[in-house]
Amino acid sequence: MVSRAPHPADIVVVGAGPAGAAVALLTARAGLRVLLLDRREFPRPKPCGDCLSAAATPLLDRLGVRAAVEAAHPARLAGWRIVAPAGHAFHGAFDRHAAGDDALRSALALPRERLDAILVAAAHDAGAELRTGVHVTDLLRDAAGAVAGVVARDARAGPVEFRARLVVGADGLRSIVARRLRLLRRPPRLRKLSLTTHIRGVAGLGSLGEMHLAAHACAGLAPVEDGADPLCNLTLVVDADRFGRDLAAGAPAFLRRAIGWFPELAPRLAAADLDAPILASGPFDWPTRDVAAPGVALVGDAAGYYDPFTGQGIFQALATAEIAAEEARRCLHESAAPPLLRRYAARRRRLLRGPRALQHAIEAVLARPALSDVAVRRIAHAPRFADALVAVTGDLAPVRTLLRPPPLLHLLRHAAPENRR
Ligand SMILES: Cc1cc2nc3c(=O)[nH]c(=O)nc-3n(C[C@H](O)[C@H](O)[C@H](O)COP(=O)(O)OP(=O)(O)OC[C@H]3O[C@@H](n4cnc5c(N)ncnc54)[C@H](O)[C@@H]3O)c2cc1C
Repeated sequence: MVSRAPHPADIVVVGAGPAGAAVALLTARAGLRVLLLDRREFPRPKPCGDCLSAAATPLLDRLGVRAAVEAAHPARLAGWRIVAPAGHAFHGAFDRHAAGDDALRSALALPRERLDAILVAAAHDAGAELRTGVHVTDLLRDAAGAVAGVVARDARAGPVEFRARLVVGADGLRSIVARRLRLLRRPPRLRKLSLTTHIRGVAGLGSLGEMHLAAHACAGLAPVEDGADPLCNLTLVVDADRFGRDLAAGAPAFLRRAIGWFPELAPRLAAADLDAPILASGPFDWPTRDVAAPGVALVGDAAGYYDPFTGQGIFQALATAEIAAEEARRCLHESAAPPLLRRYAARRRRLLRGPRALQHAIEAVLARPALSDVAVRRIAHAPRFADALVAVTGDLAPVRTLLRPPPLLHLLRHAAPENRR
């Protein structure tokens, strides 16, 4: 028998990752009745590179969780180093684009198990009702077809229905909310798979996150706590069509073999304990046709994702959650009709247009190893462009920064053959 929650909520949020927890926190803080559902129990691991954008720190401040995140001893990354398939490298620092704000000079990195638990606890403390072990399977509709709640399977109580004025789908890649609304635009074209593990004993760590490139694969390495011999996140991303079968035959063996593709990385991981649990994920390219319909909005990865290379997903989840929460409050306040968050959709589109375009441009380079070599070699000779690129992918500066005269001229001038070392 299906049980029904006695009182409808103002908002049911499906998924308590960064996007869902932030929407729940902000709307509950504004006095709305909010129900936050997740199929998992927290803390829970999540496949991710664990590195926040530098610009995420002020967002954590506004959410009221920065102190808790800093108390979890995150690593502070001063920038990123990118190593090309042929071995040359460039690095960029956030400092130049931090506008004198100390909080923006570094990016925080900590395991998602810790970050997400902090956000969920803050949503609960703000007044959201949290129900874990609740797997949402379908949507409820009113007589006019607007979304009016969700159907779920509660691990403890069986089938259950929750009614709400607004449903927020924050349920990540291949969102069930997006699928039930038929809002997924198409199956993934960019088909990549990832393996993530957490290790100690990495040699030669500095204050930078690292991306190592190989043919049709890349490996991200970053400390995710402060102190000596910190826990590090190692995430391998590979082309699914080339390597999917090998990976499926055994992730640990595949990961060990793949490390050998990155000549600078392999010796530094020789003493690392690679027997830790491995999380697999992918593919990631799940665009949506729309992110709002009567009675429902999609936020975070559920609203569409492309590729994890630039590592901006957590920032984008939090930033779009902030906009969604603001527009949800406004719509629910203005009318009793099922809310349609059109302004949220437009503001989200404006926010993400530039970063998505850059991600596609970067992917076009990564897909061609020889071009990646050329690009990295050129950027290595144009440090101002390198800083700008790292600042843009750290969400400190808009994408158009890369087209402005100082960084671009620097790239063109210093990339000229006669200037190459
Ligand atoms: C390999 C990899 C590396 C990445 N590295 C980085 C990085 O370094 N930095 C960065 O900023 N971003 C990174 N990202 C992206 C980042 O992980 C995501 O963008 C971010 O997690 C999005 O948050 P979210 O809240 O939208 O979704 P999620 O974090 O996926 O949360 C969704 C939640 O919904 C729950 N859920 C799902 N389905 C249901 C259901 N039917 N019923 C109830 N609950 C449900 C899940 O249990 C989960 O808790 C990476 C992604 C990948 C795959």
